[in-house]
Formats: sequence, structure tokens, C-alpha cells
Amino acid sequence: MIRLARAHFPVTVLGPGTRLVLWTQGCSLACRGCMSRDTWDPDAGTPVPLESLTAVWRDVLAAGATGLTISGGEPLEQARAVAELVDAAGAERDRLAPGADILLYTGHEPAEITERAADPAVARILAGVDALITGRYRAGLETSLIWRGSANQLLLPRTALGHRRYARYIDHRPARAPVQVRVEHDAVLLIGVPRRGMLTALERELVGRGITAGEVSWRPTAAG
Ligand code: SF4
Repeated sequence: MIRLARAHFPVTVLGPGTRLVLWTQGCSLACRGCMSRDTWDPDAGTPVPLESLTAVWRDVLAAGATGLTISGGEPLEQARAVAELVDAAGAERDRLAPGADILLYTGHEPAEITERAADPAVARILAGVDALITGRYRAGLETSLIWRGSANQLLLPRTALGHRRYARYIDHRPARAPVQVRVEHDAVLLIGVPRRGMLTALERELVGRGITAGEVSWRPTAAG
């Protein structure tokens, strides 16, 4: 069982191609300016059986997905479940679509990841993913690097497939940050890594059109 904040397919803004993205629930790193504060509480979100996620992954591969992105929250805070997910997703990928990659976001810095690799579950994750994006979100370190929120965050290919798919993006700086908007019931989901000022500008634009954003994931709620 893995606790998820949300899942979405197709996503075209968090890694190359068309991807399934899973956001794990729970993050204790508390970066100032985090836009996903709703993923911090480890008891929130929804527990999902790994078999269900593997079945979804299989289905989206059949529908043409070219990658899986695991983000958060902080995926390494559920290391054992994420290791099982990465193993299962890798096996399905090898069987059905060998060109599809697995990308994992973590707020840990490379030196912290090396320390954490003493945990066999973390070592399994590191062995199974094709690329990592590492590091805390640091509000003062603005960047235009693709898929990253601050300049300290590193894109690190780990496998031959990872190098093939990601090498060209390590220093890639698109003119605009890729973001996607999805409306879900009574919520608007902004997918991607927006640049500084974009969320404030979005709120201002909505207010200008008579729409008031209620709770937003990048501000503390009354409960904390
Ligand atoms: S930016 Fe990522 S690592 Fe930092 S607090 Fe938010 S979810 Fe956690």
C-alpha cells in the first residue's frame, strides 16, 4: 500500500513525453514557499494498493505513455512502498514499453541520498529509477531550468535510458515553464513547476475575472 496525494495521466510537463504522475503523500522537509503544502501531512491522502497502481501503469503504457514520474510529498518517506512500486513499474515497462523511463523527484540533496542509500529500500529505488531530480525547493534561488523550481535542484540521469532521455534537458531553459491546468470537481489542479510570481499572477488574474481562489496548496491553511 502506498499513500498518494493524487495521480494523473496524461501529464506532459513533469518529464519528457506523455507521463503518468504519482504524487506521494507526506513530506517533513517543509521548504519555505512549497507549492504543495497539502502533501505534507503523512496521514492525509489516500492509501492505494500497489497492484492497482501497477494496473494503471500497464493501462497507460498501452495508451502510449512514455514515462512515469514519482513526485511528492517526499517519496523517500515511504521508501519501502516506493521501492516496490519502482520494481513493479520497471518490470512492466521492460515487458511492454522498454523506452519508457521512470523519473523520481526527491527533496533530499545528493549527499543525503547517498547516506539514505544505507536503507535497502532506498538503494532499490536508486537502482530502479532512470533519473532523479534532487534537492529542497529554495525560494531565493530562482531558475528557468526545466522541471525544477530552484537553481540548486539537479537533474541526474542514472541509467543508459536515463542518459538517452534526459542528457539534453540537464541545462535546458525553456522560455516559459511548462505547466498544465486541470479542473477536478471543485478544484483546479496546476501541474508542473511554475516560475516565481506565476501563482500570485494567477490569483490576481482570477480575482480580476471575479473568481476567488479559496484554499490554495501554496499557503498554510487555518489548521496549519
Ligand atoms: S517543495 Fe517538495 S520537498 Fe519541499 S516541502 Fe514541498 S513537497 Fe516537500
